[in-house]
Amino acid sequence: MTSRKTTFFSYKPKTILNKHKRADHWFWTRYSAYPYLGCQHGCEFCYCREQKYSPYDDPTDFSHVIKVKENAPELLRRALKNAPLDAIFTGDYQPAERKFELSRRMLEVCLETGFPVFVLERNPGVLRDLDLLRAIHEKARAVVAFSIISTPDSKNYDRVCQMEHLAPPAKKRFDAMQKIAAAGIPVGVSMMPILPGLCDDAANIEAVVRWTADHGGTFVLASGLTLSDQQKEYFFGVLRARFPDLLALYQTLYPPKSYGQIGSNWRKTALLIRAACVKAGIRDRIPRPIVPGEKRAINKHVVELLADQLYAMELNAEPNHRLWMYRKAAWAIEDMAENIGLIHRVMGLKGLEQIPDIGQEMGMIVERLILESNPNST
Ligand code: SF4
Repeated sequence: MTSRKTTFFSYKPKTILNKHKRADHWFWTRYSAYPYLGCQHGCEFCYCREQKYSPYDDPTDFSHVIKVKENAPELLRRALKNAPLDAIFTGDYQPAERKFELSRRMLEVCLETGFPVFVLERNPGVLRDLDLLRAIHEKARAVVAFSIISTPDSKNYDRVCQMEHLAPPAKKRFDAMQKIAAAGIPVGVSMMPILPGLCDDAANIEAVVRWTADHGGTFVLASGLTLSDQQKEYFFGVLRARFPDLLALYQTLYPPKSYGQIGSNWRKTALLIRAACVKAGIRDRIPRPIVPGEKRAINKHVVELLADQLYAMELNAEPNHRLWMYRKAAWAIEDMAENIGLIHRVMGLKGLEQIPDIGQEMGMIVERLILESNPNST
């Protein structure tokens, strides 16, 4: 571990908003915009050290040389001017934010333009902007998730802390979660990445879910670790130096040229999380932030319900063609310019069946979802 001093470089990028064709089915964001490059939390497993994300030749610079996009709020305002309404993945409350306040100013732009936001944080510093998040939630919806992979009472907590040694302790994140929940904003946990041999045991997974529910969180979304190119090299260097007993396990799970975990039994872990969530009365899916009264609100909610069913089918290992039927229907509804509820009201089931990638069987499924849909429930 290093006590190296952090340096900041301010610059003016030309663009800030990353745009996707449609919102993903995990975080429900179509856009992302971040004010800093590099992260002072310096988690050893961070995928941002991958070549495609990292502007650093030396991966150790990632946590100590922070590039500050000083025109981020202005760029965001300009980019959102003609962008279709959808959720933005934004906010970054690493210590740099106390000095530069760019995340706050970007949230102000989201409030002003009426875009919903999703904030994913390892730092309780996000509480500083609770007033703004509350205002955004009232106007356009906001969802907050804290990155937490282990609870303070878990057997490997001390070792997990060494993996994210520059980030505030998990207890502070849980306490912040409680305050955000008390403010009426949907909040939960992103349990990512579940590190093999450190936090993938059933007791830790159940504890994270239980602590989340006890602190007012309503969801735990989880996924595994990916390791690639220079990030993989860096991470193996950390294992060699500080966790030599884990080296053999990771060499087996992440052999050369692999990205995800070889032989991963992800379904087993996901089912464990689902069972723990059901027991705790929370969900293993993030709620979709949908702007109240927006023209396509019902489409977005039907897509959310379809994606929930798709995830359940994946957990049940249902055949691939069935999964694709749901996936393609969700994409088709997401891409429609028209309000699907209106189509159903005017043309009934026949109208739904005419939508590309829907057809007869899916038409009946979508009809049921329209009838049970409540787009403003987030
Ligand atoms: S807080 Fe997130 S972005 Fe920052 S180092 Fe950790 S994993 Fe990476």
